Amino acid sequence: MNPSTRLTLAGQQTDRCYNSIVPPIYQTANYRFEAPGVTKGYDYSRSGNPTRRALEETLAELEGGHGAVALTSGMAAIATTLSLFDAGAHFICAHDCYGGTERLFLHFQRQGKLRVSFVDLTRPEALRQALRPDTCAVWVETPSNPLLRIIDLDAVAALTREAGVVLIVDNTFLSPLLQQPLSLGADLVVYSTTKYINGHSDVVGGAVIAGAADWNERVQFTANAMGAIAGPFDCWLVLRGLKTLPLRLRQHEANAHAVAHFLAAHPAVRAVYYPGLPSHPGHAVARRQQRGFGGMVSFAVHGGEAAAHEVLRRTRIFAPAESLGGVESLIEHPATMSHASMRPTQRAAAGITDDLLRLSVGVETEEDLLADLRAALERAPVPAAP
Ligand SMILES: *Cc1c(COP(=O)(O)O)cnc(C)c1O
Repeated sequence: MNPSTRLTLAGQQTDRCYNSIVPPIYQTANYRFEAPGVTKGYDYSRSGNPTRRALEETLAELEGGHGAVALTSGMAAIATTLSLFDAGAHFICAHDCYGGTERLFLHFQRQGKLRVSFVDLTRPEALRQALRPDTCAVWVETPSNPLLRIIDLDAVAALTREAGVVLIVDNTFLSPLLQQPLSLGADLVVYSTTKYINGHSDVVGGAVIAGAADWNERVQFTANAMGAIAGPFDCWLVLRGLKTLPLRLRQHEANAHAVAHFLAAHPAVRAVYYPGLPSHPGHAVARRQQRGFGGMVSFAVHGGEAAAHEVLRRTRIFAPAESLGGVESLIEHPATMSHASMRPTQRAAAGITDDLLRLSVGVETEEDLLADLRAALERAPVPAAP
């Protein structure tokens, strides 16, 4: 079944009592036993809840995984995943990962729970050099945030397989419809469902999907033991959001293409970062491993931070806000907003300059979005012709 068709059926078989088309919200903490030791499949909602299960089964199926857990946030998904490993495990993490991921890795490292090396994983030879005998896992985010660098998952998976280490992919920027890390060699996939999967900026949520049965068992155990599971109403909202994911992504991507081409031709723009542009260094790999280029576009303006802030102040449709993947267009300044929690040295190493702006391109009409950017860039500094 095509994923678009599968998504329209998400959760439909949940209500065995009245056959409701939309799954009920089982807003309950516990369940009555029929007899000592006999339940109808659920005893306590931390361990399992029918609304949450409908979402988890949908996510596992979309991803081609063995199982999934829905958690309270993307960071809860990341914390739960890191807790799968024994104390002292060494991780190799993409050097330009999500700021909150870097912060949590460093927090756990300070507490002696793990060790981490941040490496530019767009260069497979850098990964080969960073692998140590005590390395347990490699943590990849592709496309990366905010520069949309592309990491070659085939090349990374070949190295992790050879070294016998776990490959974990944060697939938040693309969703299972545009990239399937498990089929490219990943063992675990992590999401902030806050972004494209829910898509309506009204839920903070996360998920972990396991490729194989043994990892799924460990993920289920750890999620239940740690208890950061998503509530029934949030799961219901995410499930509802998921049904329109194929439609939304099509519009996000068409608009992002138009925006990237518009910005690339604008004299006030110093650089554009969008994997769909043939000039993007990761374009060929993105074409091979992704089913689309997504809806995120970053760009740098001439005139430094002041010029970037001025653009941020002048847009009307692009709302100045963090987060991404919702139906509405957003603009943000990574150096002072989404990536403010990153150490300045790490930010510099990741190439996140002060003149950089990141767009989450929404599903509005293309002409309105281009007109908004044109007006916001009207007074931006343009360098004199050489
Ligand atoms: C937002 C985000 C997270 C964190 O998710 P929350 O839902 O905000 O906790 C992790 N990874 C990536 C790539 C993100 O964009």
